[in-house]
Amino acid sequence: MKKLSIKGRVTLWYTSLLIMLLCVVVVYLFAFSGQVFTRQIKYKLLDIVSDTVQEVRFHNGEMDTEDMDFYKDGVSIFVYDTNGRLIAPRINRGMQVDSILEDQSVKRVVMEKEVWMVHDLYAEKDDTGFWVRGIISTSEVTSTLQNMIILALCAVPVFIGVAWIGGWLITKRAFAVIGEMTKTAESIISGEDLTLRLPNDSSGDEISNLSATINKMLARLQKVFERERQFTSDASHELRTPVSIILSQCEYGLETVEEKEKQYCFEAILRQGKRMSTLLSQLLLLARADSGRFQPDWERVDFSELCEMTVEEWEEKAQEEDIKLQCNIESGISLWADETLCIRLLTNLIGNAVKYNKKGGNVIVSLKKENESCILSVKDTGKGISKEEQEKIWHRFYRGDSARSSEGTGLGLSMVKWICTVHRGEIFVESEPDIGSIFTIKFPLEKKD
Ligand code: ADP
Repeated sequence: MKKLSIKGRVTLWYTSLLIMLLCVVVVYLFAFSGQVFTRQIKYKLLDIVSDTVQEVRFHNGEMDTEDMDFYKDGVSIFVYDTNGRLIAPRINRGMQVDSILEDQSVKRVVMEKEVWMVHDLYAEKDDTGFWVRGIISTSEVTSTLQNMIILALCAVPVFIGVAWIGGWLITKRAFAVIGEMTKTAESIISGEDLTLRLPNDSSGDEISNLSATINKMLARLQKVFERERQFTSDASHELRTPVSIILSQCEYGLETVEEKEKQYCFEAILRQGKRMSTLLSQLLLLARADSGRFQPDWERVDFSELCEMTVEEWEEKAQEEDIKLQCNIESGISLWADETLCIRLLTNLIGNAVKYNKKGGNVIVSLKKENESCILSVKDTGKGISKEEQEKIWHRFYRGDSARSSEGTGLGLSMVKWICTVHRGEIFVESEPDIGSIFTIKFPLEKKD
């Protein structure tokens, strides 16, 4: 048997619940309203009879009927003498009930297929004893109840119908969006088009929130996939150049007989081989970082010493370019860090300051302690970076136009940024074209969890 849709099930459940609820309410209403109406009639009868007793007057044994009303609010009043003879009203305006007078009693008497409520009261006034009898028909209660039943029989189905149609429409509208969402999701799967988004009416209800969340997830996935695609294409592009140089140099070296030419070929092959090796190790590290498999090797590192060592390593290259490398390093600054990553970071920053400098320029490496952190700054008087470029230098494989002639992979600063994140540090750049750049790093001294 085909299972009912969620739409159908929800509507069926609420409609059945409503029917049950209405049945209970209607039964309860009839049961109690009958009693309430009867009680109301009874009190009315008692009140009117006792008011009449107050109004009765006798003059010389004769009852004064002037100004007296013998039919009040559906109650017929009769006054009898002590022998049970009717003394008022003189003209019979109501139905007289043939039953024995009983003081303070409230009786039900059936007459001519109608039920009457009768109340008798004995009193004495002006030395004369008399009976007051009040009679009221209970058909009013029966007819009111009958009217209520008719009204309920008409109103309840209408009410249930409206509730059923309303519930069906609301759930249908809500599930229509789900239908559209399913269709869009299917086209995303079949066409692998991650630019598609699920429909969202921005109503802020649960479905619209779900659709907004899925759209956010799709946007994020699209970004990740695009980055991945870009990364693969950039990586293959970067590797193609050294590989083709190596191949062509090998072919040329094999063909040429001259020893000097062969030397040149091997040097070129070695250079490109080294570049490939650097590129591959950087790619490997970034790939591990991306997959979350990289585990830093935390230890207490003498950062001052690492800075001095890296500066020394770049000394020779700086001298070749006539660049003055200066240090302003506070000694004994140690921090919780991964030493290999710190060396990579320092090598990249100091290396860039030398590489992108001018002949006769300056590089100043400073390190100082500030509260719970250490501040490292690498200042150069080189080419500088324009404002637009300052955003892009952190992107993978980005190389400035002026940098293309120099050695490099375009992965250095993206790695530096990642190393800062691993160490819960921050990195800033201030730079002016043709004046120089300052890269500043703030690292916490202790490992933060
Ligand atoms: P690479 O140095 O291998 O090109 P990086 O990621 O280290 O890659 O740097 C990205 C780009 O940022 C460089 O190509 C260069 O244009 C620019 N850059 C980085 N450091 C400096 C600097 N100190 N002075 C001027 N430009 C710089």
